Amino acid sequence: MKVLVINAGSSSLKYQLFDMKDESVLCSGIVERIGLNGSRLIHKARGNKYTIESDVKDHKIALRFVLDILTDDEKGVIKTMDEINAVGHRVVHGGETFSGSVLIDENVMKALEDNVELAPLHNPPNIMGIKAAEELLPNVPQVGTFDTAFHQTLSKKAYLYAIPLRYYTKYKIRRYGFHGTSHFYVSSRTAEILNRPIEEMKIITCHIGNGSSIAAVKYGKSIDTSMGFTPLEGLVMGTRSGDLDPAIVTFLQEKENLSYKEINNILNKESGAFGLSNGLSSDMRDIEDAALKDHNDSAKMALDIYNYRIAKYIGAYAAAMNGVDAITFTAGVGENSAYTRADVCSYLEFLGLKIDPNKNSIRGKETVISTDDSKVKVLVVPTNEELVIARDTQKIVQNIKRDEEEVV
Ligand code: ADP
Repeated sequence: MKVLVINAGSSSLKYQLFDMKDESVLCSGIVERIGLNGSRLIHKARGNKYTIESDVKDHKIALRFVLDILTDDEKGVIKTMDEINAVGHRVVHGGETFSGSVLIDENVMKALEDNVELAPLHNPPNIMGIKAAEELLPNVPQVGTFDTAFHQTLSKKAYLYAIPLRYYTKYKIRRYGFHGTSHFYVSSRTAEILNRPIEEMKIITCHIGNGSSIAAVKYGKSIDTSMGFTPLEGLVMGTRSGDLDPAIVTFLQEKENLSYKEINNILNKESGAFGLSNGLSSDMRDIEDAALKDHNDSAKMALDIYNYRIAKYIGAYAAAMNGVDAITFTAGVGENSAYTRADVCSYLEFLGLKIDPNKNSIRGKETVISTDDSKVKVLVVPTNEELVIARDTQKIVQNIKRDEEEVV
């Protein structure tokens, strides 16, 4: 079975085509700057990289562009579109409706539309991606995989905020959590690598990228996570503040005469490492270089605050699970920054955790970086959300086929 995985953002559409026979990636790419000047497709297949510029007004045109290149004689990897057996879509917000991947039908589309209010920036492009695929591949089953689904196992004590309960009832204000597909993949791999049943393990997964979140995964289920009602809560991120006293929001609005939009922009786009470093950069490579090589004070402070917050959450989640067997780092910073991993772990020695500096010097490779006698194992596991989407899509489509055969 060949599965096309699509991740549609507001101005981009990423794709990977999987051959599920051996879970290999036949090709991958991105259409960038959809609806803007200078839109282009970057396509990677058989070790080659192609960049093609073209006007791409909307997501349907972007997907047509992708399908054309997939079937291109020279750059393509399939002969006709009929070879695509299913499409798997990344959807950011499933609200309380979805606790797992689903076959997309009319009811699911309606539920997605209903959840737009919860993720106004993310769900509309996801929906556009699905509609485009339905139009261009009308007889191909479409599956949705939700960033929030893995965290639907949180209990009330973890997901309710201490504000009047009526706001949960009226607006569904609660912790949803994000990056769920990544936390699921990375926690599963952690148990596999350590050769232990996940049902017996307490794992803390740290997805540290441009956006960052941590999850407490107890016996294979997410029981708490740092992102909340929106992806703004929790860790210090590239440009997002993470946790702060909510009174700061109203104080700033009042003092600076800021609208809802303006304060939202400050907290989402001008804060985090970018804000703390006086606008130096939101990219942690730049912050690390400035802090460690150039001895820039505000960059060093930003880096210290960034790492300290991660360590505090790990401590909190060790308490939430009454113990921790393994801590796993993933995503851009988690996979690549030996400094952040070592600095975070230096706060956690009280847990009997020890890092091996040699093992920690790796990048982007599955590795156990703790010492053999460390009481808590520490790992680096590159995330692979697309593979989870492809696997879920295959499973769901095979189940439908089986059900249809049984009916016949
Ligand atoms: P997202 O998917 O949320 O956009 P990524 O997971 O790709 O983000 O992570 C991007 C972040 O990873 C950037 O801040 C980038 O600087 C950081 N990063 C990549 N390589 C390194 C490195 N060697 N050291 C520190 N940070 C790194």
